[in-house]
Amino acid sequence: MLILDRATYDGIVAHAKRDHPDEACGVVAGPEGSDRPERLVEMVNAAGSPTFYEFDSTDLLALYRDMDARDEEPVVVYHSHTATEAYPSRTDIGLAMEPRAHYVLVSTREHGNNQGPVEFRSYRIVDGEVTEEDVTVVDSLPAEHPIATNPATSQGDPDAR
Ligand SMILES: [Zn+2]
Repeated sequence: MLILDRATYDGIVAHAKRDHPDEACGVVAGPEGSDRPERLVEMVNAAGSPTFYEFDSTDLLALYRDMDARDEEPVVVYHSHTATEAYPSRTDIGLAMEPRAHYVLVSTREHGNNQGPVEFRSYRIVDGEVTEEDVTVVDSLPAEHPIATNPATSQGDPDAR
């Protein structure tokens, strides 16, 4: 299951609508191994195409350097389809190199740049095999240490003292 906070979900949808009819693409980075999509990074579709997306290679290199420096990984890799359903194309499947990432597909085919619902779906793509998963949108991501359920004994904000 993919859990996204509302602001990140809205950001991805807004990006897809803005770039329609071209495909929009980007990443949501998060701490390595955390499965927490925390930092939305809109990327440029270097292909500038309504049927294909391609991260700009310079931007992609910069992104990976930045994520390395922050001990982050791409938790979500998203792009939009603007005329077809929100399902990975054969090209998308062939390009999916992150077995731990959630591959999000947004389809703007119904409302384009305008207000209105989009199809928003998430997949795991491992060795060419596509598995859809549920998407849950929450107001904010759960605390990083859900074990600390008692606020009286939890350590709270490590920066507080
Ligand atoms: Zn695609």
